Amino acid sequence: MTISLGEQFVRLSIAIDGHLPGYVDSFFGPTTWKEEVEKEGKIPLETLKQRTDALYAEISHADMDAQRKSFTLREMAAMKMSLRLLSGEKFPLADEVTALYDVTPAWKPESIFEEAQRELSDLLPAGDNIVERLQVWNKSIEVTNDQIRELLPVIVQRLRSLTHEKFNLPEGEDFTLEFVTDQPWSAYNWYRGKYQSLIQLNVDMPIAISRLPDLIAHEGYPGHHTELCIKEEKLINQNGWDEFTVNLINAPSCVLNEGIATSALDTIVSEAELVNWFHDELLPRANLSHIDAGRLISIYQTANKVGGVVGNATFMLHDQKTSEEEIVKYLQKYGMYQEKQAQRSVKFITNPLYRSYIFTYHIGKELLSGLFAKGDRDQHFARLLAEPVNPTMVREWIGK
Ligand SMILES: [Zn+2]
Repeated sequence: MTISLGEQFVRLSIAIDGHLPGYVDSFFGPTTWKEEVEKEGKIPLETLKQRTDALYAEISHADMDAQRKSFTLREMAAMKMSLRLLSGEKFPLADEVTALYDVTPAWKPESIFEEAQRELSDLLPAGDNIVERLQVWNKSIEVTNDQIRELLPVIVQRLRSLTHEKFNLPEGEDFTLEFVTDQPWSAYNWYRGKYQSLIQLNVDMPIAISRLPDLIAHEGYPGHHTELCIKEEKLINQNGWDEFTVNLINAPSCVLNEGIATSALDTIVSEAELVNWFHDELLPRANLSHIDAGRLISIYQTANKVGGVVGNATFMLHDQKTSEEEIVKYLQKYGMYQEKQAQRSVKFITNPLYRSYIFTYHIGKELLSGLFAKGDRDQHFARLLAEPVNPTMVREWIGK
């Protein structure tokens, strides 16, 4: 019996996950593949390197769809880097990110964060300093877990129908939502296959109402859940490309996953529609009718401009060997983080699986903004949801 190249890719990924738990973010192919790999026990890294090189060479010479081939080879180049890191090799963070994600991260000048803080200063309630003023504001628009439970179905329903109109969701797709605590992330989408996801929401810290539509768009419609459903339908069920039954954490595709998710809400709802939605429906349902919806959105969007600050924190932690205590202070100063939130971010970037992942969010968003600036946003977004795409391909589409 010959094993398909796609299946070999999956088996290799599962074997690497044995050394780096969480490397396989989701797998929804035949369970026997996973069981058989696990039966082999922990496979030595040297053996895995040899298998990766052999499969890479085999795919390079295979007669297959050109986009599929170039996508898979770039994912495998990242896989080789993951194996080198697992063997204990050390690299400057920027080299690690470039090899794993096909994008090159750079230090963000603090002037970007200072500019966002100046803009926020005109929008926030008066007070002693910007961090405190932002906290007071967020406190005034906090929602309880019971309110979240009531608001989420309303948000899910609207975003699902807008997504379906534009991008045609597969029949029978659905997700369940769960509240969790004590995680390094604020929300997570676990894809189960057969168009089903589990979306977990970390409720360690209070959630501001302004975040909720973005959160559901990011994890669900038309973000992670939508992308994975449509890819399962097209790439696996229609094309029979086995390798797409696995999704990896340290791979160039992650930049597209997070780029799609961070641009998801803006793709289906205009700013004016969002303001009206908060004004007419969401704020009244949470007894927050006294809040100005336009101001709520402006503050939310402006505060998001400091997102790149965590990238700087990651350079500080891994290249500059700055202490965690100093980094928490840096995040408070430039990112306007509360102490607990800053500590959660440091925990996230300390994890070897996530330390370079952090760059996929803002670099993914910037990359896709460049693509959407060329026009035809919906057509581009539809392609990203349905095709195997990596950052090099997007740069080629943009023409630079
Ligand atoms: Zn995400």
